Parts: sequence; structure tokens; C-alpha cells
Amino acid sequence: MSTPTILIVEDESAVRDMLRFTLQQHDLNVQEAIETIAAERLIAQNPPDLILLDWMLPGKSGVEFARQLKHNPETSDIPIIMLTARGEENDKILGLESGADDYITKPFSTRELQARIRAILRRTTPLRNDEKIEIRDLSLDTASHRVLASGKRLELGPTEFRLLHFFMTHQERVYSRTQLLDQVWGTNTFIEERTVDVHIRRLRRALEPTHHDSLLQTVRGAGYRFSAEG
Ligand code: CA
Repeated sequence: MSTPTILIVEDESAVRDMLRFTLQQHDLNVQEAIETIAAERLIAQNPPDLILLDWMLPGKSGVEFARQLKHNPETSDIPIIMLTARGEENDKILGLESGADDYITKPFSTRELQARIRAILRRTTPLRNDEKIEIRDLSLDTASHRVLASGKRLELGPTEFRLLHFFMTHQERVYSRTQLLDQVWGTNTFIEERTVDVHIRRLRRALEPTHHDSLLQTVRGAGYRFSAEG
């Protein structure tokens, strides 16, 4: 596998220096931008494997930029970790709703940063086996990374794709949020359980137009179940 490239979008030079140093120590390629216009240019030239995106930037905010990237099919698959100085739970959730795959609150340790990056890169690398799974007019192909629902192509982010793959290969069983974090995100103590709900919500929204969202059921007090049995 080639060395992953990480794009840092951060206007504070001290934070940028720390990030660059940490990433380079772990043999990752680093690109840097201090605002979103320069970031856009870099992404067009050489799409990164991951973006570390600061929340507060001069010009367009990190949240707005994340939304823009996730709405563009050319860039929607690039995972984003939001860097936020705020500790507010609502802001974190807003960041995830904007399309970010994870968030990290400043100040953070280099160890925490590493763990997050590893977890994201692990779950965005392609699944090992080429397989095609079909359930009730919903088909998922790991080779082409495509999901078709009633013949219509679904646009899913990398996490939603893995989540759906997990559910389709583990039907008729209830999984708790913790179990889903372990199975889909990989064991990572830094990711909060509410992250699971955010991605489930996104997956349901994608499945809604063809009424496949009913396959993904909430089991109160227990977690989630994928069931074709109504
Ligand atoms: Ca900033």
C-alpha cells in the first residue's frame, strides 16, 4: 500500500507544526493549507486519504467546508476529522452531521491523534474479500464499492458503507453501540457511542427513498438490528 497523504487545514501555525511533526514521525505524507481555498486547490491536484480540518478558519468555516466536500461526489469519500477547540457536545454532533467522520477536541495528545487517524484509515481501506451481498432488492458489492437499492445507486460515505456491510453480513441479531464500534470502527476508546447513532441516522436517510430503511431497526435499550423479516 502506498503511503497515505493527510491534508491539514489549520490556520494556527503552532497547531499545524505539531500536526505535521506527529504525522511525519509516523511516515505519513503531509499537505498543508491555512484556509479552504488553498485546501480546495490541493484536493483537486492530489486527493488526500484523510483531511484534518479545523473548525474555526478565516473565510469559510471548517463545518461549511466539510459540508461542501461531502456534497461533491468527487470528494465525498475522503474522510474528515474535525479539529475543534470547543468542548460543547452539540458542536461535536453538528460537526458530524456536516459530514465529518470524527472529531477531536483541542488540546489533544499526539497519541490520541494517532489512534483516531489509524482507526479512520483502517475503516476506509477496502474490505478484503470481493463479494456481492443481496437482500430484498438491496445489493452491496465490495469489489466496486457500490450499493444498489431497487436498481438505484446509493451514495454512501465510507463509514455508512462499512456499517451496511456489517449489518448485511450479520442479520437478525441485535448489536449494541459498543459492539458496533468494535466491529465497524475497530477498537478505539476515543470514539463516543453517540457517533454510532449519527452514522446510523445517515445510513437510514440514504435507505429511505427506496424504503429500505425499515430493514435497520432500533431495539430500545439494546441497540440496532438488521432484519429482512419485517
Ligand atoms: Ca483556527
